[in-house]
Amino acid sequence: METKSAYIHIPFCVRICTYCDFNKYFIQNQPVDEYLNCLIKELSQPNKKELNTMFVGGGTPTALSTQQLEKLLKAINDNYIIKNEYTFEANPDELTNEKVQLLKDYGVNRLSMGVQTFDQSLLKILGRTHNTNDIYQAVNLANKFDINSISLDLMYHLPGQTIHQFEESLDIALSMDINHISSYGLILEPKTQFYNMYRKGKLKLPNEDLGEEMYDLLLDKIQNSNMHQYEISNFSQVNHESEHNKVYWKNEYYYGFGAGASGYVDGVRYSNVNPVNHYIKKIKNGEKPILQSTIPNFKEQIEEQMFLGLRMNKGVSKKTFENRFDKRLDDIYSNELNDLISKGLIEDKGEYVKLTERGKVIGNEVFEAFLID
Ligand code: SF4
Repeated sequence: METKSAYIHIPFCVRICTYCDFNKYFIQNQPVDEYLNCLIKELSQPNKKELNTMFVGGGTPTALSTQQLEKLLKAINDNYIIKNEYTFEANPDELTNEKVQLLKDYGVNRLSMGVQTFDQSLLKILGRTHNTNDIYQAVNLANKFDINSISLDLMYHLPGQTIHQFEESLDIALSMDINHISSYGLILEPKTQFYNMYRKGKLKLPNEDLGEEMYDLLLDKIQNSNMHQYEISNFSQVNHESEHNKVYWKNEYYYGFGAGASGYVDGVRYSNVNPVNHYIKKIKNGEKPILQSTIPNFKEQIEEQMFLGLRMNKGVSKKTFENRFDKRLDDIYSNELNDLISKGLIEDKGEYVKLTERGKVIGNEVFEAFLID
């Protein structure tokens, strides 16, 4: 299997959101230019390389200045030919005319915006830097420059969020000129400001049932819109599914560049060192910035293929499975499949095996059945 995708990590943010546990640093006083020089070294190829998808994420890539952004875009352009999807993550208030023009000029054809909610009071609780107006302006800008795909991230199950507030955000998002939504329920992660507030009794989380109600509402609204669900948390119009994210769910190879980035290339899963200074030091010493790497064995590869593939509505392709593992899906999982099909949790669609609606609700229980002893 060839590596046809790449992820690039920009670990800087203008403000740290209260719920965030991603690998990111407050941008002020960070060695951003030095980091970019090292990143460019890491991603450089001896000859221009053809890729299907490229995803630049973070942190927030739009936290870079226009000059820094151009430097990065130029380096990507010097080293890669991106044939299909080229995504940048963006914060709505950081998109300027100049920056979107630059992205467009260098071939970026998809923007993934961290919107989270259209409710001003919730945006404040989340510690986001943008307001509702910034979101409208950012979407208008992206459309003005003819960016082909626009995706909005929306969160639910937020502290103090009512189902009505979530519904309002969904309605607004679905009425906008966009073609993709990713929507995730809040998970309280250790080492976040939210977690500290929660431990001190200063943060009240909504109950579990409300989260499930919100997810049901989300599915309902999507079903009555011009979008369709193609993964547990991802929804799009026809031809606007995220091709890059599908690489992960199909368990295919991708490069990971930058501090804390992870990749999967030629059978090896690896992750880079996290702290920006360690990353810079390794690159400057001419070393690979890798923190750890593992080679999943045959059994692990098969399990990954099932866990990741079943996240997609389409499910796991039997043909791809056989080509990859030289064994038929039924040879390995015939008892499990029969059992899950009889319980109405899995469907056999001929070429694909997929979760039923009930299977999606208790996803983890179904995934467990595919663990090999
Ligand atoms: S902008 Fe994104 S990466 Fe940065 S702190 Fe907020 S949630 Fe985290």
